[in-house]
Amino acid sequence: MKCDILVAGAGLAGCTAARLLAEQGQKVLVLEKRKDIAGNCHDFRDENGITVHRYGPHIFHTNNKAVWDFVNRFTPFLPFQHKVLAYAEGRLIPFPINRDTICDVFGVNIPVTEVRSFLANEVAASTFHVPSQNFRDAVVSQVGERLYDLFFKNYTRKQWDTDPENLSAEVASRIPVRENRDPRYFSDKYQGIPKLGYTGMMANMLDHPGITVMTNADFFELRDGIERTLTVYTGKLDEYFGRRHGELNYRSVRFEFETVDETRHQEVSVVNYPNDYDYTRITEFKHFTGEKSDRTTLCREYPSAEGDPCYIVMTKDNLEKRQRYLADIEQASGKEPSLFLGRLAEYRYYNMDQVIEAVFLKLDGPG
Ligand code: UDP
Repeated sequence: MKCDILVAGAGLAGCTAARLLAEQGQKVLVLEKRKDIAGNCHDFRDENGITVHRYGPHIFHTNNKAVWDFVNRFTPFLPFQHKVLAYAEGRLIPFPINRDTICDVFGVNIPVTEVRSFLANEVAASTFHVPSQNFRDAVVSQVGERLYDLFFKNYTRKQWDTDPENLSAEVASRIPVRENRDPRYFSDKYQGIPKLGYTGMMANMLDHPGITVMTNADFFELRDGIERTLTVYTGKLDEYFGRRHGELNYRSVRFEFETVDETRHQEVSVVNYPNDYDYTRITEFKHFTGEKSDRTTLCREYPSAEGDPCYIVMTKDNLEKRQRYLADIEQASGKEPSLFLGRLAEYRYYNMDQVIEAVFLKLDGPG
């Protein structure tokens, strides 16, 4: 077999790369080892007419206009502002932390102008390292120990199966702390859910005369028989190099789906369970699209060491190993031109927009 570019993986990184390269005039062959495209963004409509995200909730959000314009070429977006509640102390509390969270937890009634000094007092009464050395420091230095213990400590242990002290402070930067009453999970300018689903969006990305897609096709099994000038690899970074520097940890999740005879199960699309149960959160999908049904489909997420990779794990050990593998990419590129793109291959805790942004940068995309 022959092509110009071989793309390993039909997830968001692979589909974006394939599309850009095809539009640059290359003949692209995409190999996807699963039976479906769209990687961990894969979604489908279930028997109740509800669009289910097979690998947990995906909400598209970005401040990058070029990225937003790009995805909008392949599907219209339903406007959606993601809101989350955390179940703690037996009740549902707004999360991420804002003025209303503080009033609820501490039983106070303060104006937004007093939130900063309230949190400063909490922080002053807490112990942590400056500058932050880890996830715990990064959170406690913003909100203090009481809020950290209530919302972050146990969720983080459950999610990552390690003490928050072992995790990079960078993980904490995903979650804003707000002095106002903004209840949204994300602050980005552009936010939404693809009307055609992520699977539909990516099917449209791949729908180009320059692109051939093979599913149930393993890159490692087929690569020797394919003549090409460049490989775009989106799989696990350590796997590509035969784990020669040791295994990089990827965290998986067991997604447990349930359809119940209720028109609505919970007030918002996602409820986080930091301290109770073995799952981290429950997603109720119909909130994303406003799809109507007498029933509703839920997903409980049980973090797990086994299973398909969903997350990188930002411990010191993994991040050091990552550096060694990145040096290998430099070396390997001389012999066999290759680009490593996406969450698994770059070993970065990317959001969807950051995946696309990174592909744009490496492949001369728009913006
Ligand atoms: N986190 C937490 N409590 C929460 C939500 C998040 O402690 O209620 C921490 C936890 O370590 C989590 C990280 O913040 O893994 C990132 O959360 P995010 O919601 O961005 O996770 P994702 O949607 O990527 O699973």
